[in-house]
Amino acid sequence: MQSTMMKTPLSLNHLLERAGHLFAGNEVVSRLPDKTLRRHTYGDFYRRTRSLASALGQLGMKKGDRVATLCWNHHVHLECYFGIPAAGGVMHTLNLRLAPEEIGWIAADAKDRFLVIDDVLLPLYRQFAHLHRFEKVIVFPFSGAPVDAGLADYEALLAAADPDSFDYAAHDEDDPVAMCYTSGTTGRPKGVVYSHRSTVLHTLVASLGDFWGLRGTDVVLPVTPMFHANSWGMPYGAVMMGVKLVFPGPHLHPDDLLDLIQLEPPTLSLGVPTIWMGLIQAFDASQVAGSPNHGRWKLPRGMRSLVGGAAVPEALIRAFDRHGIWILQGWGMTETSPVCTISYPRAELRDATADERYRRAAMAGVPVPLVELRVRGDDGADRPWDGQSVGEMQVRGPFITGSYHQVPVDAEKFTEDGWLRTGDVASVDALGFVKISDRTKDLIKSGGEWISSVDLENAIMAYPAVAEAAVIAVPDEKWSERPLACVVLRPGQSATPEQLRAHLLQHGFAKWQLPDRYEFIDAVPRTSTGKFWKMKLRERFVK
Ligand code: ADP
Repeated sequence: MQSTMMKTPLSLNHLLERAGHLFAGNEVVSRLPDKTLRRHTYGDFYRRTRSLASALGQLGMKKGDRVATLCWNHHVHLECYFGIPAAGGVMHTLNLRLAPEEIGWIAADAKDRFLVIDDVLLPLYRQFAHLHRFEKVIVFPFSGAPVDAGLADYEALLAAADPDSFDYAAHDEDDPVAMCYTSGTTGRPKGVVYSHRSTVLHTLVASLGDFWGLRGTDVVLPVTPMFHANSWGMPYGAVMMGVKLVFPGPHLHPDDLLDLIQLEPPTLSLGVPTIWMGLIQAFDASQVAGSPNHGRWKLPRGMRSLVGGAAVPEALIRAFDRHGIWILQGWGMTETSPVCTISYPRAELRDATADERYRRAAMAGVPVPLVELRVRGDDGADRPWDGQSVGEMQVRGPFITGSYHQVPVDAEKFTEDGWLRTGDVASVDALGFVKISDRTKDLIKSGGEWISSVDLENAIMAYPAVAEAAVIAVPDEKWSERPLACVVLRPGQSATPEQLRAHLLQHGFAKWQLPDRYEFIDAVPRTSTGKFWKMKLRERFVK
């Protein structure tokens, strides 16, 4: 006899059923290539998703088969998030910003059987089609143009399927639902596979009040691509709570995002720091009398903004707060589902000064429930949570990957006692706030001491004339490495190395920590997920 609770498997299908029954009238809005908005309801989403699952079954999909997506953020991608697992498959989001050869390599490594693709991305597909043969390429007519004869039409497949007679594939809670490759900025991309269980637990934890704080009345704008760690898991949370979604489609230019925000003002948005840097620059420029976009936009006061994936400069947090928008910083990796820490105002900070609140908001934050976190030194000993001692951050928990797809578990990524080695160097303070100093490979070692490039970047970006800054290490005969600052100035503004040096000294940096060189550049190169790409800067400036 069962003595405790029911052993009901955690399942994405439950979230789908819930949305179909409880939230059928709520809206999902997608921006199309021609910039018009298409509106669906969760009721449409429910029926269409079940139709997709049914159609995949008819195409002969078997349990565990990988179905790749090459799509922007929109309603059909959301249907794939739930429809592919409902039919027993594994949704594999391909990163459309990677080089075609890399996408082809990843699809082959994952042995993807089918592909769901936006018609506007077919030219990209043709560049890597020779590297991997999908059994079926299913084209979503995103642009509205008819799908070429000879290719499977997503809409025709759905129209021919019957959502009512569909039965969910039997599954276990540990069965895979989705797969995402690490971006490969630090080595060959590796596949991370998420399960029903890991996804449901991550969704529940991340949605808590102090983190995403999802409310039924929210309007969520996911700018984070759905191929970047599953848009940080937000689509699952949105469906769980039936919140209105506004998908930006392919239009991620700051002007386009600001236009969309006027049409559908969000209460919650998410994206990497560079997106918000671009947005605030465009907005600030529009405030100048006589500028081309003068008076065109308003910022949505009261919006919460989830920003992570890279360090969030304090200057950015302050800039948005001036407009009544609060940035919640999170830290995570593709390997960690991804939310592991979030910076939020803990009770102990109730009476903290504004400066202290900003300082904490610029940290990676506090570990979320179910995530264990430790900081290990090179000597194998745990570092105390004193806000000073740094080491490698290691994490463990039910939504942290235990291995990579078809890669033997190796000591570089996992410890002997089963923790994930994040490759991030961090300290933790007495309140549990994590502060990331650097990625291991970005650390600057000068005369036996570490210099945090993240700290330098944050301080340089607080200088009013600076739009963006990235600091890299350059080899040095005497000191082994020295910092070099790559600086992007705001249009029409100027700054000299002397001014920046004086500014950094004022910010409390010691003389030996200051960059020896400043390079003024037009833009910081971006990775496929929109982060600063320091490797490219090293290639350019380190000879
Ligand atoms: P990649 O950056 O390689 O494209 P991921 O999106 O998985 O792939 O990135 C995870 C990494 O991003 C982390 O290991 C960390 O270095 C960085 N990162 C994520 N969030 C933050 C943050 N809030 N502050 C600093 N670094 C962060």
